[in-house]
Amino acid sequence: MALDTLDFTVMIAIAVAMIAYFAKNKIFGGDGTSAGFTASVGGETSRNLVETLQKNGKNTIVFFGSQTGTAEDYASKLAKELSSKFNLKVLIADLADYDYENFADVGDDILVFFLAATYGEGEPTDNAVDFFEFIDNEADNLSSLRYSVFGLGNSTYEFYNAMGKKINTRLEELGAERFAEYGEGDDGNGTMDEDFLAWKDSVFESLKNNLNFEEHEAVYQPNIELTEIEEMPLDDPHVSNGEPSKAYVTKANTDLTRGPFDHSHPYISKITHTKELFESKDRSCVHAEFDLSNTNLRYSTGDHIAIWPSNANENVDYFIKAFGLENKVDVVFELKALDTTITIPFYTPITYSAVIRHHLEISGSISRQFLSSIAQFAPDEETKKRTLEISGDKALFAEKIHDNYFNIANALLYLSNGQPWSNVPFEFLIESVPHLQSRYYSISSSSLSEKTNVHITAVVEAEKHGDQLVTGVVTNLLKDIEINQNKSSEKPIVTYDLNGPRKLFSNYKLPVHIRRSTFKLPSNPNTPVILIGPGTGIAPMRGFVRERVALKKNNDAKVGKTLLFYGCRNENEDFLYKNEWPEYAKVLGESFEFEVAFSRANPAKKVYVQQKLLERSQQINKLLEDGAYIYVCGDASKMARDVQNTLSNIISAERSVSEERGHEIIRSYKVQNRYQEDVW
Ligand code: FAD
Repeated sequence: MALDTLDFTVMIAIAVAMIAYFAKNKIFGGDGTSAGFTASVGGETSRNLVETLQKNGKNTIVFFGSQTGTAEDYASKLAKELSSKFNLKVLIADLADYDYENFADVGDDILVFFLAATYGEGEPTDNAVDFFEFIDNEADNLSSLRYSVFGLGNSTYEFYNAMGKKINTRLEELGAERFAEYGEGDDGNGTMDEDFLAWKDSVFESLKNNLNFEEHEAVYQPNIELTEIEEMPLDDPHVSNGEPSKAYVTKANTDLTRGPFDHSHPYISKITHTKELFESKDRSCVHAEFDLSNTNLRYSTGDHIAIWPSNANENVDYFIKAFGLENKVDVVFELKALDTTITIPFYTPITYSAVIRHHLEISGSISRQFLSSIAQFAPDEETKKRTLEISGDKALFAEKIHDNYFNIANALLYLSNGQPWSNVPFEFLIESVPHLQSRYYSISSSSLSEKTNVHITAVVEAEKHGDQLVTGVVTNLLKDIEINQNKSSEKPIVTYDLNGPRKLFSNYKLPVHIRRSTFKLPSNPNTPVILIGPGTGIAPMRGFVRERVALKKNNDAKVGKTLLFYGCRNENEDFLYKNEWPEYAKVLGESFEFEVAFSRANPAKKVYVQQKLLERSQQINKLLEDGAYIYVCGDASKMARDVQNTLSNIISAERSVSEERGHEIIRSYKVQNRYQEDVW
């Protein structure tokens, strides 16, 4: 997670996107918007791009195609600097927010940037689909367009940065002129932030050297105005205490059990059951069950559930201390947009503490760019100098900040030797700190066997690095719930306000929504399936197996072979759902086979699922020839690619074809949807 200068206009674009989506009757499938955002429109919106530019006096567009929020975040950072350093009038635009039939009329006096992520197997993000349709099939001449592109991708995937590359080359083919070089960021290499900074620097050089723009020292120019409302107490019914969407504050004419529930409005679901799945002193994995029986929210096996987070008490307190906000926590304020293209990112009036606890991503890592932009508000000259020195030097930043796993509060208090950064305007924090995003979990239950009950399987992210305790937001929240609900003697690593705003989450509830997934069993239950899910990758596989068990039990359906590969460290520590598998085998009989790879059972020999696959080469090849589907879930960075290579090699060896042909066959399975991945 990058913490960085987040331009408020991105949040606006986010909210505008929501409106556009609803207007178009579309559901935003990605998580490009921040959890907790309740959009209230601050300006007029139009799908006509040229009209929007003219009406608002804009001369630059920063488009983003975003699935997880990173491209949006970068779009906002770029826009902020283009406006503060080059006086450009920037429109940040979600690619889904505009129609493109008059795109050719965007004149050469407008600079157009694209920050485009590639999703899954070289696919566009959900919000960029229509734009790609336009450049692929509808546009014929864009010779007046001046553009630059930064692609966000992951080199561990086969079609690395396919979407960034495509925009870049397709616009060139259509006659558009690139005014600054094409750039790419690589998440797989862990260099995304630095790649983006390098590209941004090269863009600025082009603006200065080729387009004769003058660069000024960046001075923060707020896009929003914060006004405190002294006469309004925090228990006033109109004041947000951090409720996840406006409807939960106003409750006006809204049946809160009826959807639609999505990234802009969650369902507050009861967690009926939790348990610790690991038998380990140092590691933890929580099984949690969400009850959907009182709502019309439904899921189908293989879908994802999004959990809306709030921050841990310890991190909230430390953040408040870092900015000297102790006297402000319960003060109520409202926000006003200072530009007509800007939308307020969350419902106001609201309190300072509600924003910090429920809307800002305060515990992730801090970026160089954020440091450099906050330096202007340092408590003294010495701290400012140090902050600028460290933020301006990649190696020094890595040594002093990144390698110490500092979050915003840690880093700033370290730089100021403990002095609070009381000069930082709260508007700056709202605009610059990323907003809390919901986290997705592969559902580990089956909608056939538990129609209104969603199970998840979440590994708790908690590590000690020197003195620094690094904790994941949602997984530690789930752990805190598990400990309290089961009255366990375990101590949570960090604690949360489990009651939530106005006790909305009391008795173990959390805001959630469901994301439809394409990770689905074949419609014919008799089709053989090969399931590969090491670690928490087992989650959707458990759902699939439960589905087949239910099919067999309820309808005595003829169920095809289910060959499941699972991997964990060792049998007595982290073997997930160890006692369940024999039960499933009893129902499914010989049609169910289960292979486990223990990576740490024998210190001299680590065994991974790939090896188990190789041991069953012949059977796997035979199943594939019989039409089997393959499912892979879990770690995207290495496991998914290694498994794919292993399967290609199995095909190549068993069918006596070249390795290249083996790869081609796997690729063709992907195209036919017979090879599906759910990886993160
Ligand atoms: P975050 O707060 O998001 O932190 C992420 C990481 O950053 C953690 O490792 C944390 O320790 C580290 N970190 C925190 N602060 C710092 C800092 N200051 N410096 C450096 N590092 C820091 N996960 C599962 O367990 N089970 C699933 O079934 C599952 N399914 C998924 C399905 C999909 C489609 C996707 C996209 C993801 C899935 N995930 C799953 C991952 C899950 O969404 C979360 O990313 C994961 O649980 C961590 O969330 P968190 O809020 O606890 O951690």
